[in-house]
Amino acid sequence: MTEPFDLIDELGPEKVIHIHDPATGLKAILVIDNVAAGPAIGGCRMAVDVSLDECARLARAMTLKNAAAGLPHGRAKSVIIGDPKMPLAEKERLIRSFAYAIKNIPDYIVGPDMGTDEICMAWCHDITGRAVGLPREIGGIPLDLIGATGYGLCAAIEVASEFCDLDLYGATFVVQGFGSVGIHVSRFLAEKGAVLVGVADIYGGLADSNGLDVAALMAIKGEGGKVQDLDSGEKIDREGVIDIACDIWIPAAQPDVIRMENVQRLNTKIFAQGANIPASLDAEQNLEQRGTIILPDFIANAGGVICGAVEYHGRSELQAMSSIADKVANNTRNMLERAKAEGISSREAAMKMAVERVRQAMQYRKTH
Ligand code: NAD
Repeated sequence: MTEPFDLIDELGPEKVIHIHDPATGLKAILVIDNVAAGPAIGGCRMAVDVSLDECARLARAMTLKNAAAGLPHGRAKSVIIGDPKMPLAEKERLIRSFAYAIKNIPDYIVGPDMGTDEICMAWCHDITGRAVGLPREIGGIPLDLIGATGYGLCAAIEVASEFCDLDLYGATFVVQGFGSVGIHVSRFLAEKGAVLVGVADIYGGLADSNGLDVAALMAIKGEGGKVQDLDSGEKIDREGVIDIACDIWIPAAQPDVIRMENVQRLNTKIFAQGANIPASLDAEQNLEQRGTIILPDFIANAGGVICGAVEYHGRSELQAMSSIADKVANNTRNMLERAKAEGISSREAAMKMAVERVRQAMQYRKTH
């Protein structure tokens, strides 16, 4: 928890705070990376073993994601050291103790992350008066229920389709991971007439060149089933979805699923990253060199963070959806145009865009 870390540069971090409350046993770290654009929104992760270095890296990744999304917020990350499955009363005591510790740090707005949820955020809100990812009853927008990330991903894909002359009506797509992100991006793409030709969850995959029924798959998942419970399509290994040629391939499961050893198996026009870091950088470059349009994670899956910011500003679910579509589509267009104009990868273009926005926001602050 106290090891030095090397992620210090002209962008941040602005504050690194170690928190220890002997009364409750709370041990936590808060890294506020950069608040030039506004107070930092950042997930609070509960885990038994998370290092300061990892916390700082996660905070930086989120600074760039927020900047790329054009939000009036910086980014932070916090970690509470503990087992998220501890008894609820103990968890509430730790979370409330954490909330008291951050109460007087107005630059930090806490949100949910791995090991914390909307109830934890309600406890924090009770003490600090600021949190996102709240229960609906106190102003929260349930982003996984409304499909915020899938909606943004669909908006990014729609823009990318213009760059490769692809008509979404009749376009084929494959989704790896049929959870919050995978289900909703499938729903929104199907509404536009695209055809799901392959899908996998952790238990296995399904393929059908004539199209799989998205509504039926959603119903199966809603009842706790597996994608292979669908009574049509060919059952394949979960890794088998990598071999299905299609127009749009969507990783929406885990990090690092596409690497140099399997990237050659992918044959797609658009690689739309729902999951975070689903491909290694060299695999991503290989795909791009073969003519695939890459929609990098921090541009394409920003729907969730946009939703959190909209919630914080007290707006409605409808306003969240419109803001997600608007921001993700604009950013995707700017990124792809810049990549084309400068002959660089879409990830490089997105990084440049994000870093420039943070630097610009820092310039404005200097005048105060
Ligand atoms: P989820 O837990 O709801 O769904 C994950 C799905 O992936 C499940 O269907 C699971 O069975 C499947 N899966 C896991 N391992 C698999 C494998 N090896 N092969 C095939 N399927 C596998 O998670 P989610 O919220 O949909 O998030 C998916 C990814 O997107 C994660 O990487 C997450 O960090 C990222 N992400 C999510 C959001 C969001 O708003 N939920 C936002 C940005 C990024």
